[in-house]
Amino acid sequence: MKLPLSLLNPNMSSGSGSLIWFRKGLRIHDNPALEYAARGSTCVYPLFVIDPHYMEPDPNAFSPGSTLAGINRIRFLLDSLADLDSSLKKLGSRLLVLKGEPGEVLIRCLNEWGVKKLCFEYDTDPYYQALDNKVKNRASAAGIEVFSPVSHTLFNPADIIEKNGGRPPLTYQSFLKLAGEPSWACSPLSVELSSIPPVGNVGRCEILQVPTLKELGYVEEDQDEFTPFRGGESEALKRLRETLSDKEWVANFEKPKGDPSAYIKPATTVLSPYLKFGCLSSRYFYQCLKDVYKNVKRHTSPPVSLVGQLLWREFFYTAAFGTPNFDKMKGNKICKQIPWNDDDKLLAAWREARTGFPWIDAIMVQLRKWGWIHHLARHSVACFLTRGDLFVHWEKGRDVFERLLIDSDWAINNGNWLWLSCSSFFYQYNRIYSPVSFGRKYDPNGNYIRYFLPMLKDMPKEYIYEPWTAPLSVQTKAKCIIGKDYPKPVVSHDSASKECKKRMGEAYALNQRLNGVVSEEELRKLRRKFDEGDEEQEPKPKRLRQKLTD
Ligand code: FAD
Repeated sequence: MKLPLSLLNPNMSSGSGSLIWFRKGLRIHDNPALEYAARGSTCVYPLFVIDPHYMEPDPNAFSPGSTLAGINRIRFLLDSLADLDSSLKKLGSRLLVLKGEPGEVLIRCLNEWGVKKLCFEYDTDPYYQALDNKVKNRASAAGIEVFSPVSHTLFNPADIIEKNGGRPPLTYQSFLKLAGEPSWACSPLSVELSSIPPVGNVGRCEILQVPTLKELGYVEEDQDEFTPFRGGESEALKRLRETLSDKEWVANFEKPKGDPSAYIKPATTVLSPYLKFGCLSSRYFYQCLKDVYKNVKRHTSPPVSLVGQLLWREFFYTAAFGTPNFDKMKGNKICKQIPWNDDDKLLAAWREARTGFPWIDAIMVQLRKWGWIHHLARHSVACFLTRGDLFVHWEKGRDVFERLLIDSDWAINNGNWLWLSCSSFFYQYNRIYSPVSFGRKYDPNGNYIRYFLPMLKDMPKEYIYEPWTAPLSVQTKAKCIIGKDYPKPVVSHDSASKECKKRMGEAYALNQRLNGVVSEEELRKLRRKFDEGDEEQEPKPKRLRQKLTD
């Protein structure tokens, strides 16, 4: 129910209650919005609104979960809320959970509770930009002070864009030059709160406990295996402490070195889901890393160091904030216009780990089961789906990641899909990850594949990356007949990747000829040409797709 402005409680500005609205930023440490809410207030209402759209089951989605999020991320969020509630209780408060359309619930609470200060972390995602503007306008009009500090990122993307004359920097190096050191870097961050004023009278609002998955309507059998990563600030800080305890590892961290097939002990920090939900402050993480650097003789530097990784995050946040339609090909000025195909069968084979390439399929199984995969594993499957082999639109792959990742982040996910599909930022489309030899380099025995694709567990190592080349006698002995127990490859990598490169070359030429302003008609024409096969070429190139086998 929408409350008209006139119904907002006229006395509310005389109260001294504050409302801290949690969305991301699910933490106590380095939380300026929470601190400000607590300062000088007689009572504080810590609110989280469950948006049914985000949290409640959608039986029509392609994986267990809601319309917008896979079940692993919902569970991660519930863990994080339960942990936040428990930390708030230790400080003499609690989390107030309400259900409904977030903007409407919030306005209702402001009215009902006579709130004087509304505090929430600034959010650059388009969804929050629209919602927050609406809420801010309504609150300000009703005389409520609104405090919305930047604390999800190291920098305010708007500052960087302003320094660059109104445009976001589009290379990492130019970003670094503009950004410099964050202004707060040398002053200590507030990492502890000793108490929070009590929760005030909640009136007629129906307050819930943090629900369980079951209470949200999920059934246990929805997912055969859950992510091993549990949500929450306590977990985040524990994971951070463990990471920092190995100073040599932190000092020598170098990406893209590192083994994407390492799953028992991942080769990177796995702090991304905690940064995504703000269970870990990126600023606190940054300061801790700088402290380690101060105490070692030598350390790596951006772009490859751990601080460098955090700066990649900033880079994509800035590019995303300053680019209209960042999450689309159409209307996105920094995105090459490419006539990707709409082959839903190829997309489904990729999404459901049925491409017949064990390296690709194992990664897609890990993504579905764990909601987290290594950066180079993300590279492999994103390249394969788009410019490497299948030539499927990057937006389709982006959607699958957006749903299944526990660290799914609007700016970073879109930015990296633009990168990997050579649509923006990175343009060397001739450099393709082989779905066979890339994984083998790290894991010659194929242990990662054997773990995530158990039907291949007895395949001899010579064939584990290309099981379709194994003689039938070997397949029989390994109890895995290709085409029956595990699919045949959906494409021949050699011919598909050649065809992809050719298509990318033609699409790039078209973009160059038309100065990036490619009409729908021009794109359709090129797509038709691809579909029909290039008649000027002899011999006629092989069609991208082979017959799909199960
Ligand atoms: P570490 O290597 O330990 O890095 C520490 C932190 O730095 C990460 O937690 C993350 O916040 C940041 N970071 C690292 N690499 C990148 C990067 N390339 N771009 C931006 N920030 C980075 N990351 C997400 O957090 N959410 C996403 O939705 C997401 N989608 C991606 C999609 C594709 C196609 C690709 C190729 C990458 C994507 N990434 C995404 C970036 C990166 O793969 C993950 O951040 C990283 O693998 C997370 O693991 P980690 O925390 O162990 O990383």
